[in-house]
Amino acid sequence: MSIIDMHVHTKYSACSHIEIHELLSTLSALLNVDGIVITDHDVINGARIAQKYAKEKYDIKVFFGIEVTTLDGHLLAYGIDETLPVGLRAIDTIKEIHKKGGVVVASHPFRNVYGSLGDLVYNLGDVLDGIEVANAMDSKKAKAKARLAAQQLDLTMIGGSDAHSLKCVGRSTTIFETTIESIDDIVDAIRKNQCRPYVSF
Ligand SMILES: [Zn+2]
Ligand SMILES: [Zn+2]
Repeated sequence: MSIIDMHVHTKYSACSHIEIHELLSTLSALLNVDGIVITDHDVINGARIAQKYAKEKYDIKVFFGIEVTTLDGHLLAYGIDETLPVGLRAIDTIKEIHKKGGVVVASHPFRNVYGSLGDLVYNLGDVLDGIEVANAMDSKKAKAKARLAAQQLDLTMIGGSDAHSLKCVGRSTTIFETTIESIDDIVDAIRKNQCRPYVSF
C-alpha cells in the first residue's frame, strides 16, 4: 500500500511559492504521505529538480506529472515526461496525452472558478481515466459533485492537495492498493481503478 499526494505545485507554477527543498523536508516529516506527484501548471522543470533532490537526500518519493491548461479547464496528466501544448480543447489534450501513453484525470472539475471542466466532464466520460474528487482546495459541494460524476461515469477517483503553499501539502491524498515505485505503477493503478481518495484531516 502507498499513500500519494497526486497534485502538488512548486514555485515553478506562477501561482505557488513553494521552494523545492522546503517541500521535500516538510514531506519527509509527514507520516501519512509516502510520495507526491508534482503537477505544476504546464511545466515539468520543478518536478525534475525535485526528483533529483529527493533521491539525493530526502525520505520521500517524487514522481512527475503536469497540470495542463486547456480551453475548457485543467487536466492532470500522469505518465508523460514532456510538456504539452496549452490552450487546446480538453478533448484534443486528452487525445494527445493518450497518444503519448499517459492517463488523464479531470482536476477539481466543479470548482467554481476559471480552470474547471464543470459539466463537460459528463461529455468526456468515455475518454477520461479518472476524476479528482478530493482536492483539498475545493468546497464540500464541489467535491460532492465531482464524486457523483465519477460514480455515474464509473471512473477512477483520486485525491490530491493541490497545494500551492507548504501548509496544504498532504491534506488530500490517494491510497494505492500496491506499493508505488514508479509513475508507471500510478498509471497502471489508475487504469485498473486500484486506488481511492483519502482525506487525512
Ligand atoms: Zn487546477
Ligand atoms: Zn493545481
